[in-house]
Amino acid sequence: MGLPHEPEFQQAYNELVEAIQDSTLFIQKPEYKKVIPVVSVPERIIQFRVSWENDKGEIEVNNGYRVQFNSALGPYKGGLRFHPSVNLSILKFLGFEQIFKNALTGLSMGGGKGGCDFNPKGRTDSEIRRFCVAFMRQLARYIGADTDVPAGDIGVGGREVGFLFGAYKQMQNNWSGVLTGKGLSWGGSLIRPEATGYGVVYYVEKMIEKATNGKESFKGKKVAVSGSGNVAQYAALKVIELGGTVVSLSDSKGSIISKNGITPDQVHVIAAGKVKFLTLEQIIKESASTFSGNNEVKYIAGARPWVHVGQVDVALPSATQNEVSGEEAKALVDAGCKYIAEGSNMGSTQEAIDVFEANRSNNVWYAPGKAANCGGVAVSGLEMAQNSQRTTWTSEEVDRRLKEIMYNCFDNCYSTAIKYSAEKNASGLPSLLKGANIAGFIKVADA
Ligand code: GLU
Repeated sequence: MGLPHEPEFQQAYNELVEAIQDSTLFIQKPEYKKVIPVVSVPERIIQFRVSWENDKGEIEVNNGYRVQFNSALGPYKGGLRFHPSVNLSILKFLGFEQIFKNALTGLSMGGGKGGCDFNPKGRTDSEIRRFCVAFMRQLARYIGADTDVPAGDIGVGGREVGFLFGAYKQMQNNWSGVLTGKGLSWGGSLIRPEATGYGVVYYVEKMIEKATNGKESFKGKKVAVSGSGNVAQYAALKVIELGGTVVSLSDSKGSIISKNGITPDQVHVIAAGKVKFLTLEQIIKESASTFSGNNEVKYIAGARPWVHVGQVDVALPSATQNEVSGEEAKALVDAGCKYIAEGSNMGSTQEAIDVFEANRSNNVWYAPGKAANCGGVAVSGLEMAQNSQRTTWTSEEVDRRLKEIMYNCFDNCYSTAIKYSAEKNASGLPSLLKGANIAGFIKVADA
């Protein structure tokens, strides 16, 4: 494509294009071919300097971005990531994924993503606030409830959305649903914090049901989860609620492995520690009694959970991109793992995806993030709808709609794979990788 070196974006682009080229879509609808070059270039990229004052009174400078990738389906929609690894390749990959993910929710949202190479770890509340205000000072003029609606991602949670929203409101003298993931008392939606994690589990519920003709569910399943942020926490809680056992969680420094299953109490203690930027290792040391006896966990420094979890039925990568290597995928499959669904965006490397897809004939079933984790942005879409109507729905109502969106998303991926991807193996499991990419692409291409 004649691009600068953008490996993450190239990987996301290849995944989409290969899934489509490997199907009969272009044979059945050749006119769609011309959409690829249109959809692969962002409509607009905004890049800006963020200069802000730290607690010592010194000026610090960071690089801020907003990639307004595609607005065929609606206002640009997608999160903001604050992490030292943020660069244009990463934000272009995330924005590109977001286009098709948002399409798969069935709601009217275009795709975008933004962020900054700012590292929130170790910063005080007031530093984070001053940083957010400085970031919004640059971004405010480019966003709006009907133009571009950012939200959170890694490093941006309820607190940061609050600082950003307050800054926007003051600068524009305008209250509107310009950000999602807001607090409940100022325009947020119930179930938004839970939505991505719950949504992944609802999607996998459908996978298990379909693969076993309704004979099995999460009950009794062993589930490996990576990450310990918002997505991992709520995925774990929902798995436990549905009768599964969560055998792992992790952060960038290491993993915890639990033989008897992580408890809801442990998840809550981890959530409280993570707000304070503690590592998992620090959290289990500080709350030793919560992590001992029957509920003991083993801490493994410097490792992801996959090769350490032993026999599992389900794996939910929920930390960050490329967090499952080819070898780790092989270890999971060898250990009997049948269902892999990404809570993270592009959680699996291409090598890992190849391993999972090659094992579909052994009933191994892989769901890419753009389908499995669309619950987060889906409830963001529901938050936008509630803001426009000046109303709030009950948690039961939002959860019901989230479930419906995830189930429809699964059905759409499944039936699209059958329609455009003739290869079905003996066990009859169609490729959700292909189904998700083709279904998302068709909706955008039609628009
Ligand atoms: N960052 C989330 C995602 O990757 C949510 C985006 C949003 O709610 O706009 O889908």
